[in-house]
Amino acid sequence: MSADALRADIRRINTPATNGDRLWQDIVSTARFGGTDKGGVTRLTLSEEDRQVRDWFVDACEALGCTVEIDAIGNIFATYPGEDTSLPAIAVGSHLDTQPQGGRFDGILGVLAGVEVLRTLKETSTLLRHPVTVVNWTNEEGSRFSPAMMGSGVFAGALALDATHALADRQGATVGEALGVIGYRGEAKVEPSAFAAYVELHIEQGPLLEASDTEIGVVTGVQGVRWFDVVISGTEAHAGSTPMAQRDDALVRAAEIVLAVRDIARRNPPGVGTVGFVEVGPNSRNVVPGSVRLQIDMRHPSDAGLEQMESALQDAVLKAGAGAELKRIWSKAPVVFDPSVVEAVRGSAETLGYSATDVVSGAGHDAAHIATITPTAMIFVPSKDGLSHNEAEYTSPGECARGAEVLFQTILELDRR
Ligand SMILES: [Zn+2]
Repeated sequence: MSADALRADIRRINTPATNGDRLWQDIVSTARFGGTDKGGVTRLTLSEEDRQVRDWFVDACEALGCTVEIDAIGNIFATYPGEDTSLPAIAVGSHLDTQPQGGRFDGILGVLAGVEVLRTLKETSTLLRHPVTVVNWTNEEGSRFSPAMMGSGVFAGALALDATHALADRQGATVGEALGVIGYRGEAKVEPSAFAAYVELHIEQGPLLEASDTEIGVVTGVQGVRWFDVVISGTEAHAGSTPMAQRDDALVRAAEIVLAVRDIARRNPPGVGTVGFVEVGPNSRNVVPGSVRLQIDMRHPSDAGLEQMESALQDAVLKAGAGAELKRIWSKAPVVFDPSVVEAVRGSAETLGYSATDVVSGAGHDAAHIATITPTAMIFVPSKDGLSHNEAEYTSPGECARGAEVLFQTILELDRR
């Protein structure tokens, strides 16, 4: 055994361990807040069910001796004290809201694992140098109020508080009002400088870990997104009397662009490209299509990758001939997590003897906002069949427990620095 391995072994034996059974009990018992008949959860943000799970979280943390603060967008910060009062907290967490007919793991796993870490500290009378803060970010899902990742967005300064308070749901209730109704419009001013680092444990929501039989995903970043609209103008004509050689069929040209999007993504791994929307005019069986609108979604973990994909798309649209027009309508830059926090996650999985692989998140997360203001990384655990935003979403007790252990080990690692 090498000196490093020996040190890691001693460290592992001397480290208090999180309790996977206790974490699982919390997952099962909190699933009753908004629980559905099919074993899922409907807990829209700032709803009565959200209030119930928030109250549970606040009670659990206060019982452990935490200071609980709520800010103006309803983010909850539960802080367990550290030895050195001059040090900023190591923050962990995620979100307690779900999609309609969502699952029992998306979001809440990261919050409950944080609570489990605090319980372990308390039970073993362990005092770290840094305080540890467990955070619940308001409205990660964006299902009742748009945009998604709202609480972390306000916290990171990407969204303005007043304008966000004024956003309304379909019934006309605003975010500000809804916060008041459930009693979570707080006054605490928690500053980004309050955190030394942020680590978010989350289910993968994709199939890669399960398919490769890997226990832990070391998340190195979140891929970037670009959205495009393409409009192709051809000539409407009679489907019977127009010879093939004399047609300008907009749909045939669009089909070439659809295939090009697939090929562009394949040529730029691990990029992905999708044409998810097609509108054909006039959309009639016996008329040669005169116009088509396509909506395209392209994603890649690097800006350079996105750049290449976009320029290849421009070429493909050009090749589709006159009357084809491309517009980029929205984009989100890739997020690259802090290498030293990523390394702490990777090293922790290794110390614990779990198989791990680097992954880039395909979905957005609160961590993407927090990464702009605090050294940040994420930990993924497998999702059965890659399913999420689905009542059948499942991560096993053992997988959840391993995620919490890696989270705790990462906190200990960061605390030593
Ligand atoms: Zn989530």
